[in-house]
Amino acid sequence: MSTTPLFIKMHPLDNVAIVVNDGGLPAGATFASGLTLTQAVPQGHKVALVDLPRGSVVRRYNVSIGETLKDLPAGSWVNEAVLHMPPARSLEALPLATQAAPVLPALEGYTFEGYRNADGSVGTRNILAITTTVQCVSGVVEFAVTRIKTELLPRYPNVDDVVGLEHTYGCGVAIDAPDAIIPIRTLRNISLNPNFGGEVMVVSLGCEKLQPERLLPRGTIAIQAVAARAIESRATARFDVNSAQSDSALESAAEAPLDVVCLQSDNHVGFMSMIDSIMQSADKHLARLNARRRETVPASALVVGVQCGGSDAFSGVTANPAVGFCTDLLVRAGATVMFSEVTEVRDGIDQLTSRASTPEVAQAMIREMAWYDAYLAKGNADRSANTTPGNKKGGLSNIVEKAMGSIVKSGSAAISGVLSPGESLRQNGISSGLVYAATPASDFICGTLQLAAGMNLHVFTTGRGTPYGLAECPVIKVATRTDLALRWHDLMDVNAGRIAEGSASIEDVGWELFQLMLDVASGRKKTWAEHWKLHNALVLFNPAPVT
Ligand code: CA
Repeated sequence: MSTTPLFIKMHPLDNVAIVVNDGGLPAGATFASGLTLTQAVPQGHKVALVDLPRGSVVRRYNVSIGETLKDLPAGSWVNEAVLHMPPARSLEALPLATQAAPVLPALEGYTFEGYRNADGSVGTRNILAITTTVQCVSGVVEFAVTRIKTELLPRYPNVDDVVGLEHTYGCGVAIDAPDAIIPIRTLRNISLNPNFGGEVMVVSLGCEKLQPERLLPRGTIAIQAVAARAIESRATARFDVNSAQSDSALESAAEAPLDVVCLQSDNHVGFMSMIDSIMQSADKHLARLNARRRETVPASALVVGVQCGGSDAFSGVTANPAVGFCTDLLVRAGATVMFSEVTEVRDGIDQLTSRASTPEVAQAMIREMAWYDAYLAKGNADRSANTTPGNKKGGLSNIVEKAMGSIVKSGSAAISGVLSPGESLRQNGISSGLVYAATPASDFICGTLQLAAGMNLHVFTTGRGTPYGLAECPVIKVATRTDLALRWHDLMDVNAGRIAEGSASIEDVGWELFQLMLDVASGRKKTWAEHWKLHNALVLFNPAPVT
C-alpha cells in the first residue's frame, strides 16, 4: 500500500473521514488536502476534517453518529471517548414506503448447477442432515455421524456430507411460553433447508419436551416425501410441485410416519443397537440423496443470506458496499437476498421503512424492531450493547456508525418482504427480492436463523477477521482490508480491501463476488471454510425462559 497519507470520506457533507493507511498515521502526517494530523490516528479510525467545537454534530455517511464531548481541532482523532451517542430513532412517525424503488433492469442468462427439490427450492449442496429433538442425543448422534461418514458415505459419492443438527434446546425449557415458537420453528425449518433434499430423519431421546411430532407435525414434510417417492420410482426425473402432485398423493404423504430413531425405545438393547438403528435409517436416505444430480438452474434459485461479523470501519467502506452492489445484481437476476441483524439496522430504521415496497412491509419491519427493543429492555440492555472491543479498536465508535456501514449490504433495491426469527421464506410465499429477516446480530444465531429461512448460500464480511463457517451451507467470506486478506490468505475468499487502495472498484468486487457465488453454488469451487471444514455450531435463538 502507498505510504502517502490517505483518508476516505463517505459523503460530501461528512465532517470526519477514516484513515486508510496500514498501521495508521503519526502526528504531523499531512494529507493531499493540506490537513495535518494533530495526533496519531490508527488505521480505520476517524479524523476531524474541520474544527469541531464541543457539542458539534459528527457526521459520517451524512448521518449524525454523535456529538463531540470537547473541542476537537481539525486533524484530531475522533473516537468513542470524545463522542456522545445520539438516542435511538423513535419507532413513531417513520416514513412508510415513501422512497421510489430505483429502476433495476433484469439481469438474465446467469445460471448455476444446483439440486432441484420437490417444493421448488434448489440446493447448492447435497447433504444428509440428522435432526435432533434434544441436546441429550448429541453425543450419540456425533458417534453415529462419524461412523456414517467412514462406513457409508464412501458408497454414495454424490452426497457431499452428513451433518448432525445439534443444539441445546429440547428439554428443560418453558416449551409452552409464547416465544418458544422461535426455537421450535427454527429447528423445524432448518430440517427443511434446500441443501438437505427433503430427506428428513430425526433422532429423539424419548422423554424430552420437544417431541418429534411437535417439532415436525404430520404434513410438514409431505411435499418432500412425495417427491422422494417420485424420484425413487423414477416416475419423473423432475417433480413439478405446482402441477404434478395430486391431493391424494399429498394426503398419503401427510400420513407417512416421520422417520424417527428413539433412543429410549424398548427395541434398543445397548448403545450399539442405537447406532445400528441410526445407520440403517441413514443408509435409506443416503441412497435417495445419492440418486440426485445437479442440473442447470437460473440464478434466481439462489437464496443468499448476508451478514457481517468482526466489523471495522472499513466494513462500511469496502466489503459491505461491494456486497450491496452484488445484492442488487442478485435481485436483478430474480434471486432472494436476506439481510438481518436487528441491532445493526435499528439506527437506520427510517432509511429502511422508506425503502419498503409497501406500507405493510414497512410496518412489519417496525413490528420486528419494536419486538427487539422490548426483548433488550427486558434484559436491561439496549442497542448500544452491540459494539465489541474489536469494533472500537477497528475504528467503529458506536452502534450508529456501525449500523450505517452494515445497512450498505442491502444495496439499493426496495425491501419487499420481512421474516420474523425462525420463519421460512417459502412458507411466507417469498421466492425473490430483497428481504429483511429479523435476527440477532450474533454471527451464529443470525446464520442459524438464515438457514431456517431457506438460505442456500451465505456471504459474510469481516474486518477484524473470523474463521466462521457452517456445515449446512457454503459461506463466502469477504475481507474488508488487504492486510487481513493477506494474513488470512487461506481463510478469506474475497479481498474487498483493494477498493480502499484504489486497485478495484466497488463494482469490480461486486461482480467478482457474484461470479464466485455461481461457482460456489455449482460446487465448482469450495470456500476456504469448506476446504478446512470449519464449522460453527448451530445456535437456536431462545428468547423464552428455561426451567
Ligand atoms: Ca453478525
